[in-house]
Amino acid sequence: MTDTTRTQTDLERQIAQASQDVKEARSPIDSTTTQTAVKDIVEAYPAKVGKKRAKHIVVRDPNIPEQTIEANVRTTPGIITQRGCAFAGCKGVVVGPIGDVVHIVHGPVGCSYYSWLIRRNQFRARANGRNFVNYCFTTDLTEHDIVFGGMNKLRQAIQEAYDLFQPPAITVHSTCPVGLIGDDIQGVSREMSEKLGISIVAFNCEGYKGVSQSAGHHIANNGFFKNWIGTNEEAEEVEGYTVNLMGEYNIGGDTWEIERVLEKCGIQVISKLSGDGSYDEATESHLAKLNLVMCHRSINYMADMMETKFGIPWIKVNFIGVNAFAKSLRKIAEVFDDPELTERIETVIAEEMAETEAQLATYRERLTGKTVFLFVGGSRAHHYQELFADLGMKTVVAGYEFAHRDDYEGRDALPNIKIDADSRNIEEIHVKQDPERYNPPFSEEALAKMETNNTLKDYKGMMPDMGEGTLLVDNISHHELDVLIERFKPDLIGSGIKDKYVIEKLGIPCKQLHNYDYGGPFAGFRGAVNFAKDVDLRVNTPVWKYVKAPWLN
Ligand code: SF4
Repeated sequence: MTDTTRTQTDLERQIAQASQDVKEARSPIDSTTTQTAVKDIVEAYPAKVGKKRAKHIVVRDPNIPEQTIEANVRTTPGIITQRGCAFAGCKGVVVGPIGDVVHIVHGPVGCSYYSWLIRRNQFRARANGRNFVNYCFTTDLTEHDIVFGGMNKLRQAIQEAYDLFQPPAITVHSTCPVGLIGDDIQGVSREMSEKLGISIVAFNCEGYKGVSQSAGHHIANNGFFKNWIGTNEEAEEVEGYTVNLMGEYNIGGDTWEIERVLEKCGIQVISKLSGDGSYDEATESHLAKLNLVMCHRSINYMADMMETKFGIPWIKVNFIGVNAFAKSLRKIAEVFDDPELTERIETVIAEEMAETEAQLATYRERLTGKTVFLFVGGSRAHHYQELFADLGMKTVVAGYEFAHRDDYEGRDALPNIKIDADSRNIEEIHVKQDPERYNPPFSEEALAKMETNNTLKDYKGMMPDMGEGTLLVDNISHHELDVLIERFKPDLIGSGIKDKYVIEKLGIPCKQLHNYDYGGPFAGFRGAVNFAKDVDLRVNTPVWKYVKAPWLN
């Protein structure tokens, strides 16, 4: 390592420490305000509902070794929250971003519109030139089809899509009415797959399955795994440091910024599930030596199944935030345990950090001390705390829409999670070792060492990263958000479209973190600079003090 590199690493250490201090800091909101807000939230509900909701709201206390929170249970009818349906989780989140595949929604046009382009997933066509992410394919079921069945319409839609676009594969997604009338989408897809000679995968992801979009993620993982993952048996082994990037959805180009840095380190991405993902690459994903899991909630099933079948270990990474990115790169270096790669990674971190820091410092001066609420996804409300901390901004309240307890408390909570009827509804695939292709890329000693160090398959969840007195709210409702905004007056809220305009009418800037509004990329080193600029513009504009919500007049 050169002297220059060493100096840059010192700088990086200072930045990392500053960021860690922000995360671990006590909430700047006094505990009486916090306790009163929680009490008022709960007491506004009927007693039974209040009792249930109280289990989803936790004041963080790092002195309690195993703090727990209720999650992934049905929303009480009558309460409006941010959740989506299983169809949105399956087609809208996990399957839809595979860009060279035609995704047909079997259902009324409204469901298709609901899942069309809302996440701004980006895709670059491969050599075959196919790119369908901007299209919206639907069977557009009407009353006649609901009465007499829509299977013929589905057959026609598949045929038409094939004739017009010749995609390498087609997926079919059923929505609520299709589940109710019982159209056999699996049968039609099988029949058309045989007729056309391409892979056609049907997902029974009717919106009402499960308690949120989380059920759809699981259904999508199962469908991908059974039909595509590792199905290219001709594909030849790839030398070097090879990975699959999983649970990263290339919103606003995030995946490309991550890939730029990985490539600079000499790490090759074999497949991406599913942002900027392609069908052919998914079929070759069994060739990678390591799976990198970004969004734990939406893809952990796949990572586990690939490990059992092919022996590919997985690690949890976070590429949002400069310090988080550096930490994740070092985790990859630890797994491959090759001094040459480690040195290259250290050089890249030092270079990228120096380039980024010069730009971030200006924004940090303007943003330090500002407070943030984060209500998004099943990992983003955790990942983005790192990036805000890099900017000196403290997350005081955070929660997920569709997470499970392990996303809050870490995977150690898994044995204690009760499987309820809603979760049992989703198929649990029993995977076995592939007799020919099970091939762990690391020695038993290396794997044992990584197990001891908790490098593999480990995720500690959001809770340990939140400072004393901060608040965790699972599946937040509009009523709860109103109370917390009024009492805590945050400088920014990271959330989604369902509450963006309510928040902004209350005079608080809202940054959409599902689709980034029109910005991005926000991942990685350069993404952090884009984000800082965007947040600075939102937080430091004087317009907010002129906004008054019409319902408060
Ligand atoms: S809940 Fe059902 S009807 Fe509504 S968007 Fe989801 S699949 Fe369509």
